[in-house]
Amino acid sequence: MSVKVIMANVSGFCSGVKRALGLAYDACKQCAGQVYVAGELVHNKKVMENVETAGVKLLRDCDLEKITSKDALLIRAHGCPRGQRAKFHKLFNIVIDGTCPHVGRVSKMIECESGKGKHIIVIGDKFHPEVQTLVSFAKDDKVDIINFEEELDHLQDNLDQVLVIAQSTIDESSFKSFANKISKIYPNAEIKNTICSSSRRRQQAILYFKKEGVQAVVVAGGIHSNNTRTLAQIAKKIGLPAFHVETATDLPIQKLKTFQVIGVIGGASTDEETTKEMVADLLALEN
Ligand code: SF4
Repeated sequence: MSVKVIMANVSGFCSGVKRALGLAYDACKQCAGQVYVAGELVHNKKVMENVETAGVKLLRDCDLEKITSKDALLIRAHGCPRGQRAKFHKLFNIVIDGTCPHVGRVSKMIECESGKGKHIIVIGDKFHPEVQTLVSFAKDDKVDIINFEEELDHLQDNLDQVLVIAQSTIDESSFKSFANKISKIYPNAEIKNTICSSSRRRQQAILYFKKEGVQAVVVAGGIHSNNTRTLAQIAKKIGLPAFHVETATDLPIQKLKTFQVIGVIGGASTDEETTKEMVADLLALEN
């Protein structure tokens, strides 16, 4: 019997990644010098290889002495912390802002609300570049990052003006659970669910898989990609075995053969082609 494969109704790059990649390719065509990017433009090996082939180079410390007036620096979709951005403007004549507009809007919100005296709590991963960008916009370090339950115990007492926001790609149900707990600590806390629409739609697609009778989920995307990892975690949380793989050749075929209905979804930084290749390979399976 052949395996039934259901592809999620949302796939391909999210709008932020698409925009940053477009800026990267345009810069390679138009810039007379070298186009640099500080950190991976997206957390996806294949996409990064394509971008590097087009001419974008990851900025390393040893490049700093070689920068010429013709070189350009591209800020990635995650954004970059304010201090670092200021340094880039000193170093480069051309700075191209590839920050996702959603991240830009949340950064402005943090700047504005912390300027009014609010203490900001970001639910997310403190090591993720987007979170590092967001917290850099809080005035006078009035900010905390929460990723684990026990970190709630370290929040300050007696704050009456608190704004809680989310990293754009985190699991919506865990954001809501943290927000509930924080509301008990600070009853006046304002909660803004700033998970972006692309992440929310992909997370909902996983929940929908379950309703459609999917027995296992394949999540296509970079191993270091936060949004892709979150999708796999959500699938596991609702009781679906999840396989997070970067390319079709990484598919654990023998294991996948044991399921009759498989759902396939790509992360926000996964090209549609990769997801479709996986679907084609899975459709060829017999069990
Ligand atoms: S995942 Fe969301 S916030 Fe991140 S780049 Fe894509 S659209 Fe922007």
